[in-house]
Parts: sequence; structure tokens; C-alpha cells
Amino acid sequence: MANLLEIVTIGNPVLKNTSEEVVDFNSVKELCEDMIESLPSNGVGLAAPQVGQNLKIFVAKLNDVKRVFINPKILEKSDEFIDGYEGCLSIPGYLGKVKRHNWVKLGYYTLEKEYKEEVFENFQARIMQHEYDHLDGIVYLEKVSPINSLSTEESFVKYIKKSQPKT
Ligand SMILES: [Zn+2]
Repeated sequence: MANLLEIVTIGNPVLKNTSEEVVDFNSVKELCEDMIESLPSNGVGLAAPQVGQNLKIFVAKLNDVKRVFINPKILEKSDEFIDGYEGCLSIPGYLGKVKRHNWVKLGYYTLEKEYKEEVFENFQARIMQHEYDHLDGIVYLEKVSPINSLSTEESFVKYIKKSQPKT
């Protein structure tokens, strides 16, 4: 049975490190299952550093299906950017505007060590870029622009939009 992992918060050095590529896929099977289990109902993405592991793994909930992405690489990206609000499970209580590519083409491995390439658009592309950044030790807060778009969850709900899933 999968375990619920503790999600670390900003300030923890593990969120600032560059993560290592996965070599032994069998050794991360349990971690991946635990990460899927640990993605909260208000979350759409969770990267391994957020559960204290500097490994190139993230899970994302896409069309209500939780999927695992191992050793992901952004292979291509749109020239166009789109503005949108983001929150992060490791920075609880805040949201801010971040510019992201409209679409990205991601190369990645599944837990079964199958290599895939897939294009993600709009909000799904945003999730991919947010999680990918975690593997490089970057949190969305570093990319919030304009900086005064930063909002507490309370103000966000009150003045901007009813809800926003967390990554
Ligand atoms: Zn995050």
C-alpha cells in the first residue's frame, strides 16, 4: 500500500537543488506510487523535490488521470506565452501570475521505462513547465510578474477567481 508523503515547503534546501536523473527505474517504483497517493485533491502536480527527493520525477493529474513523468525534457516550446495564476503546494497560501509557453513538447519515460513524446497545451503546458522547474531547483515565485500580482489565497478567492488547483 502506498504511503502519504510529507510535502516540504519553501526554505527547504531540497527545493533549490538540481535533481538527478533516474537510472534504476525499479528503485523509484514505490516513490512514484507514494507521490501519486500524496497528490492532494486540490493539487494537479507534485515533483519529487517537494517530497524531499532530488530525482527527476513528477506526477501530474491530467483530465482526472494521475500520471508519472520520469526524466522529462522539454524538447520544443511555443514562441507565444500565456499569462496565468499559479500556486504551489510547497508555498501554501499564495498565488501569482506567471508567463508560460502556450505549449511544450515533452519527452519522458513512464514507470515501465517506455519513452514517449507528447505535446501539452494551455493549462496542462503550465503544469508541465511548473513541475519541470522544480527539477531544476526553481519555484514559480521566482517568475511571478508583475510581482504585485502575488496574492494570498484569501484575497485571490475574494478578488480574482473562485479556485485554482495547486502544483
Ligand atoms: Zn510547485
